[in-house]
Amino acid sequence: MHCHIDLYPEPAEIICEARAKGIYVLSVTTTPRAWTVTKRLAEGASRIRTALGLHPQLVPERSAEVALFESLIPDARFVGEIGLDGSAAHKGCLVEQAKVFETLLAMVGRAGGRIMSIHSRGAATLALASLRKFPNAGDFVLHWFTGSKRELEEAVRMGAWFSVGPAMLTTPKGLELTALIPRSRVLTETDGPFGTVRGRVLRPWDSTIAVQGLARLWGIGQDEADAIVMSNFRRLVAQSGGEVEH
Ligand code: MN
Repeated sequence: MHCHIDLYPEPAEIICEARAKGIYVLSVTTTPRAWTVTKRLAEGASRIRTALGLHPQLVPERSAEVALFESLIPDARFVGEIGLDGSAAHKGCLVEQAKVFETLLAMVGRAGGRIMSIHSRGAATLALASLRKFPNAGDFVLHWFTGSKRELEEAVRMGAWFSVGPAMLTTPKGLELTALIPRSRVLTETDGPFGTVRGRVLRPWDSTIAVQGLARLWGIGQDEADAIVMSNFRRLVAQSGGEVEH
């Protein structure tokens, strides 16, 4: 549910292998300008969908692309990555980030809502507050959630979905948070090429490592964990009016 295909050194090879493996990939973008080209990379690959995004860390230099986001949203089935980043290096522009985030959410709402992949590092409470203001923006998936338990519980109450990657499942805090997410709201991701495990860059199909981690955490078999995640994925897509190819 979250990787950056366009940011790998060899996107064509990643796509080729993902197709061969038959996996479903949500290829998120970090700027509206990147969307058309990134979408074209996956042309003909029906299981790879390209989400329209504007990464919160890029808001200071890319806020002019908000208008482009608005012109592209009618053609985008998925949105991401968007959100807020309150970590030390980016909290200085949180006010501007929130303004842009809410502008984008309003646009997504006017377009009828989309499945959205949301970045909320160091700003989960603020991100949830913005999402609460725009219920028409659609279903949202909190990617690589790193907030507090209270914030997680609040997100669950709001109907949030969570995409969990191998990296999240290798830290004590990440495991503790994942254990608190209802199994019916868990999806997988890699956040590659940013997501790594033991220094190795994750590729989209490494979401299976997350499934293994979930199986261990839940005390069930890998096949059963895989079935839960797949069933969640189908339900999310179905409730937004879409259909998952068999
Ligand atoms: Mn990302």
